[in-house]
Amino acid sequence: MSFNSLGLSDALLKAINKKGYDTPSPIQEKAIPPILEGKDVLASAQTGTGKTAGFTLPLLQILSEGTTKRHRPVRALILTPTRELAAQIFENVKEYSEFLDIKSAVIFGGVNQRPQAATLKRGVDVLVATPGRLLDLCNQNILSLASVEIFVLDEADRMLDMGFVRDIERIIKLIPKKRQNLMFSATFSKDIKKLANGILTYPVSVEATPENTTVEVIQQKVFRVAKGKKTGLVIKLISEGNWQQVLVFTRTKHGANNLTKKLISSGITAAAIHGNKSQGARTKALAGFKDGSIRVMVATDIAARGLDIPLLPHVINFEIPNISEDYVHRIGRTGRAGASGEAISLVSADETSFLADIQKLIGMKIPVEIVEGFEPDPNASTEPIKQGGGRSRSPRGGGSNKSSKSSTKGGSSNSGRRTRDRRN
Ligand code: AMP
Repeated sequence: MSFNSLGLSDALLKAINKKGYDTPSPIQEKAIPPILEGKDVLASAQTGTGKTAGFTLPLLQILSEGTTKRHRPVRALILTPTRELAAQIFENVKEYSEFLDIKSAVIFGGVNQRPQAATLKRGVDVLVATPGRLLDLCNQNILSLASVEIFVLDEADRMLDMGFVRDIERIIKLIPKKRQNLMFSATFSKDIKKLANGILTYPVSVEATPENTTVEVIQQKVFRVAKGKKTGLVIKLISEGNWQQVLVFTRTKHGANNLTKKLISSGITAAAIHGNKSQGARTKALAGFKDGSIRVMVATDIAARGLDIPLLPHVINFEIPNISEDYVHRIGRTGRAGASGEAISLVSADETSFLADIQKLIGMKIPVEIVEGFEPDPNASTEPIKQGGGRSRSPRGGGSNKSSKSSTKGGSSNSGRRTRDRRN
């Protein structure tokens, strides 16, 4: 299969060629034809599968074949949960539309809205946005979504995790009923299926990797270790393995900062990336990580979601996530595009039930190792770690949306109902 046979225009093929892509990825092969036919698509695809091009290329083709109005109202809206992901998608949209008469823009919170408002005023065909800032600008009448023809909901599962369900509902009310919808999600919980039912009309379902399974080229390992010895073990693994690009996940922002400091003081360049970091600091950390000047990036789940880090050889879970689906997302950072990778989880006694849930979800037992000098503590309690001070997260304005209602206590009963640590 080649890009030529997918029915894409010469201008898009030229841009694809410039990016150096030879063949479409499986999700592109499956998603592009139905999108070009104008169908709604529900796609199961993780970051790293090439899903961005999967929806952007056909979307650009459809827009470029339609009539461009002089004032250029927003005709395609791409909604995504995080600023980083929004920025990345926007970069892709720009690259793929280089040889087309299409204008695109990105808007997200945490930065001054004035330049964004000025860009919108000049006219934008494709808008990439995070929900909060999008609604802000709509409420101020700076932006109208009345001409949206194509609506893309990217990383829908993470949208729900982050408590954006109400915002999505509000946004849907602002766009025309008659439109094409494309929804992407890495996992498919009941809530996601419900959301999809409310948004999509007779969707074509496409899948890049089977639901909730981990890619086989990723070697997964668990190191059973005493809680207090995790930092030492991370330093040992990175130094002795001479690992040059490592993504480490911690459960909390505080944990990310702490570990980063300790890595730096043992001579390993590192940066933390989490919700409390400014946009500038996050962008700088990511750039340093990509160009090799920073060896270790320490991230929380929400911050790391959607980061485009190609060919990452090592991912370490400093703590394993209490939400099992996050494990699948985390290790999806390694072994991308067919390259092999290693995903290591440091598991202390209090994470035993979380590990059981993860193994249940991925349908396999992860091999366990113990490193001499970093043995688990035989006297430690297996009582699960308390999350975020015991109260479940209610991220936006204290509303009781579904994803923030569930209890955080309890053992290994139902990982899908747990909430993420509020300190993430
Ligand atoms: P995504 O899943 O959209 O975040 O894409 C992951 C990475 O794969 C990005 O760095 C893309 O530039 C790259 N990519 C997307 N499509 C292709 C393709 N057909 N061939 C090679 N690389 C690709």
